[in-house]
Amino acid sequence: MASTVAFHKNARNVFFHILTVCNLKCRHCYINPEQHGLEMLPAKTIKRWLKELMHEKNKTNLIFIGGEPTLHPDLHALIKAAGKMGYGSITVDTNGFFFNHVLEKVTPEDLDYFSVGLDGSRREINDFIRGKGSYAKCVAGIKRVLEKGFKVSLIYTVSQWNLRDLKHMPALLEDLGIDRFFIQVIGIRGRSARDKKERLQITRREWAAVVPRVAERAARLGIHVTYPKVFLNKSEPFECAGLVAENYFVFPNGRVYQCPLCEDFSLHSYVFEQNRLTLRPPITEKNLFELSIPEGCVMNKLIQPGNLTYDKQGKPRYKIACCLLKEEIEAYRLALA
Ligand code: SF4
Ligand code: SF4
Repeated sequence: MASTVAFHKNARNVFFHILTVCNLKCRHCYINPEQHGLEMLPAKTIKRWLKELMHEKNKTNLIFIGGEPTLHPDLHALIKAAGKMGYGSITVDTNGFFFNHVLEKVTPEDLDYFSVGLDGSRREINDFIRGKGSYAKCVAGIKRVLEKGFKVSLIYTVSQWNLRDLKHMPALLEDLGIDRFFIQVIGIRGRSARDKKERLQITRREWAAVVPRVAERAARLGIHVTYPKVFLNKSEPFECAGLVAENYFVFPNGRVYQCPLCEDFSLHSYVFEQNRLTLRPPITEKNLFELSIPEGCVMNKLIQPGNLTYDKQGKPRYKIACCLLKEEIEAYRLALA
């Protein structure tokens, strides 16, 4: 059974974009250089910011992300430094190319997961979205990283380009020996927001018909699956992570957001000033979190209202959940008769 993962009041997540450059040009990439900058942060600055973002009492999970974080020549040293600082878990989000010999410079003890992005069970589908040759390179990278004893989680971003292919992913994960699967939903942000003609978002009906079933099939194969909740029934409570949880999305230009949907706008709650995390004056995303509307998430209503539908009285048929609220299915295997 899928269960909703409630926001943990004392858990903190730091998504640290240590650079924004990438070797790929995925069609759905949300990185927006105008808003997030183009610089590669020096290791010295990253370490200072990591210290500032740590919390002595509450477990802080760290995700190194980009761009492609393995393009940073000091990533290995940053992983080790974060471990010494006491981060509760360390993950590297990567496209699977593994630059700068990072796999030779860290050990499975240094980090919890490499989280690898792959958007198709076959070359044709993945390479249409992520670029020619990326499927072969990513799958080879996954095999190499597993052989070295690291743990791997796979992220698949569902859009109209690959919704019908999702059902083939559990078998691929089993073949590769991956036991964690994160099914992400496309957001209308960054590059995908620029194409106004193509409808990439998934409707509620499409989501409900495909994603939970695929998640269930993967769980039966012994794979732990997580996916965004997205749609709430009227009876389900709405919570905004900006008000009840601690998430920090850090960018190289010093902006720190609490909500991913705000990242295309200058609405960030904090900014690094002289290497100190500094609260910005209003109006920021924090002020928007407090607006209570019948549609649920206020940022969804502002920037991607296409996924809302209304009844004849003009009332929303459902609420949109916080984009940070996830469903989770524990892995299990059916006993053979
Ligand atoms: S691998 Fe990630 S950062 Fe790079 S282009 Fe694709 S989505 Fe963007
Ligand atoms: S996605 Fe919506 S509900 Fe979640 S933090 Fe952002 S504004 Fe709040």
